Amino acid sequence: MTPDYDQIINEIYNELKDASDEGTVADYIPDLAHIDRTKFGICLTTLDGEQNKVGDADEKFSLQSVTKVLSLSLVFSQLGNKVWDRVDVEPSGNGFNSIIQLEYENGFPRNPFINAGAIVIADMLVSLHKDPKAVFLNYIRGLCGNTDIQYNEKVALSEKSVGYGNYSLAYMIKSKGNLVNDVDEVLDFYFWQCSVEMTCAELAQTFLNFGETNVPFGHGNYMLTASQSRRMNALMLTCGFYDESGEFAFEVGLPGKSGVGGAIVALNPLRYCVSVWSPPLNVKGNSYKGMKALEMLTTKLGRSIF
Ligand code: GLU
Repeated sequence: MTPDYDQIINEIYNELKDASDEGTVADYIPDLAHIDRTKFGICLTTLDGEQNKVGDADEKFSLQSVTKVLSLSLVFSQLGNKVWDRVDVEPSGNGFNSIIQLEYENGFPRNPFINAGAIVIADMLVSLHKDPKAVFLNYIRGLCGNTDIQYNEKVALSEKSVGYGNYSLAYMIKSKGNLVNDVDEVLDFYFWQCSVEMTCAELAQTFLNFGETNVPFGHGNYMLTASQSRRMNALMLTCGFYDESGEFAFEVGLPGKSGVGGAIVALNPLRYCVSVWSPPLNVKGNSYKGMKALEMLTTKLGRSIF
């Protein structure tokens, strides 16, 4: 019997809406510091097209690190396994912006979902395309089936103005010989990529594609094979939540990805994709209520991927 997803996400929303006000909004990006911390939305979309939404599920927010899955899938569709010559597929066990492993691992990032790894992926996209921003935006619009998806230039410039940590990562990678292009050019793409905005509904629709692990998917010339999309899911499960990836697999049991804008997207392949947005973050940089909501979802459903 199909579960009553609508009832379940409404129950979760009502239980958490006015629950504790813990967590801190990501204020290291000046333009994100002013976000209304009470915003809270959930959208669950099933593979057969049923869409269930509650709260602020139709409001746009900054995707930030969630876009790292999308930049990887674009590059993976073009370069295949050559990607892994420059980025590993291991959980990092360190914070999303950590530089320490780069020093002793010779500029070879642990995975594509920490900042260092996403910067190397951005470098590949800059090498592959004359106008990587246009190609990337067109690709994600295609995956979502929606042309109303944009960069937020103000957020990108705001992050760039204080992006010292990401500059340090990029220069360290460059010094070890794993960054081909000019640092400014690569980070320009990276900051723009992070500034892409979507609603919960658009995010669940976009990532639903990754749950179709039995058929090729993509947009235009950029198609992933079924095997590649299963690998994307494996990476989301093991590396999607920085140094809280183990905890997310333990408590929620779904592949997914978070971002410091307060979004989490997670999927149960061949069944559904769920997105949550709530800006206050826990100490690991993951949405406090988002983690709770998804833990409640798989508990109420009595089923994760396991
Ligand atoms: N743009 C953010 C940064 O580079 C992304 C971090 C995140 O969402 O985890 O710090």
